[in-house]
Amino acid sequence: MKYDRILIRYGEMTTKGRNRNVFVRRLKNNVSKKLHMFPNIQIEYMRDRMYILLNGEPHEPIIEKLKTVFGIHSFSLAMKCHNELNEIKETALAAVKQLPYEGKTFKVSARRVDKRFPYGSDELNHEIGAYILRNTDGLTVDVHDPDINVRVEVRQDGTYVTCRDIFGAGGLPVGTSGKAMLMLSGGIDSPVAGYLAMKRGLEIEAVHFFSPPFTSERAKQKVIDLVKKLTTYGGKIKLHIVPFTEVQQEIYKQVPDEYSLISTRRAMLKITDALRRRQRALAIVTGESLGQVASQTLESMFVINEVTTTPILRPLVSMDKVEIIEIAKKIDTHDISILPYEDCCTIFTPKSPKTKPKKEKVLRYESAVDLDPLIEKAIANTETIVIDEDFEAEDEFEQLF
Ligand code: ATP
Ligand code: MG
Repeated sequence: MKYDRILIRYGEMTTKGRNRNVFVRRLKNNVSKKLHMFPNIQIEYMRDRMYILLNGEPHEPIIEKLKTVFGIHSFSLAMKCHNELNEIKETALAAVKQLPYEGKTFKVSARRVDKRFPYGSDELNHEIGAYILRNTDGLTVDVHDPDINVRVEVRQDGTYVTCRDIFGAGGLPVGTSGKAMLMLSGGIDSPVAGYLAMKRGLEIEAVHFFSPPFTSERAKQKVIDLVKKLTTYGGKIKLHIVPFTEVQQEIYKQVPDEYSLISTRRAMLKITDALRRRQRALAIVTGESLGQVASQTLESMFVINEVTTTPILRPLVSMDKVEIIEIAKKIDTHDISILPYEDCCTIFTPKSPKTKPKKEKVLRYESAVDLDPLIEKAIANTETIVIDEDFEAEDEFEQLF
C-alpha cells in the first residue's frame, strides 16, 4: 500500500465567502497547468480542500512543483481507504512505514466527520496507535510534541490518512486579484516586487525600457531570464519591451540635468500606463522602496506619480535592501540581477539628481519639449514576447501594435 494522493489545504481564500468557487477553480487551473508534465494525475476539488490523485505518478517532483503555487496553505501525502476499522489500521501503519520512522515519536489524531462511523475519535486514536506500536520497531508515543502526527479523517466518502504536512507558498491564486503591469528593470528590486504582487493573486505583464545602442542585447536577455524565473510562480507572462532611446535622448537634451531623471521616470510611467490601458490591467507595480535612491524620495514619487491616477503598487515600499535581497535569493533572481549589464537609467543618470524636485519646475521644463510624438512612437514600436517556464528565445515573437 502506497501514498496514492496529495491533499491540498487552501490558504486565506477559505474566508472569501461567495467568491470561494472562483478562487478554488482558479487554483485548480493553476495546479493543473503547473503539473502538465504528469499526464496521469487527476484533480478532485471541493469547497475546503483539493486532492491530486497520483495514479502512479511520482510524488516527490510533484511536491516540489506544488511549493511554488500561490493559494496553497499546506499539503500532505495521503492514502484513502474504506470506513472500516481494520482497513484504517492497515492504512495508517502503511503510511507510517513509508517514512523514516526509526527512533522517532508519533501520535494519532483521528477525526470522525462521518458520525455514522461506530468508533469515536478517542477510540480510534487508541486502536490505531496500539496497532502501529505493535507492528513497528523503534517508534514511541509522544502525544504533546510528536515527530510524526498520523492524521486520520473519517469522512462520508472514505477515510484519509496523512502523516507529514508540507508548507505551501501561501498567498492567493495568481489571477484572482486581477491584472497589473510590472515595471521591470534588470535590478534586484523589481523582480521581487513582481513575485510579491503575484503572491497577492495578481496576474502580471512586465514592461521593460531599453535604450539601444546604449544598452546591449545582453541587458535585454537578462530581463527575459528574470521574467522566466517569475513564470515559476505566475505561469505564462507577457513581456513588453519598449524602445526608449529617442525619448531619453530628447529629455537629456532639453531638460536640465538635475531634472532629467524625474522627467525620464514620468515618461516611463506614462508609457506603462498607456500599455496598461491597452492590455486592460488596473494597476502598475514597481520595485520602489522609500528613500532608497534619489528618484524614490517621497517628493520624487509625488512628482513622478502626477502623470497618472492609476493605482501604483509598491510591494517593497517599507523594506530594507537586506530583506529584499533575501527574497531575491529565495526566488533565484538575485544572481541574474547582479550581472553587470548596463540599464537604460544607469547610462543617462545625471551626476546629482534632485531629491526634492518641484512639480512646477518639472512642468515648466517639460512644456518646452514635445515628447508626445516620441512617446507614441515608443508605444507603437513596443515588442511583446510571451514567456513561459520552458521558454526558448526563438519560441514566440508577437508584434502586438
Ligand atoms: P531595481 O532594483 O528594480 O532596478 P532600483 O533600486 O534600481 O530598482 P530605480 O532605478 O529608481 O531603483 O527604479 C525604480 C523602479 O522603476 C524599478 O524598481 C522599476 O520598477 C522601475 N524601473 C526602473 N528602470 C526600469 C526599466 N529600465 N524598465 C522598466 N522599469 C524600470
Ligand atoms: Mg535599477
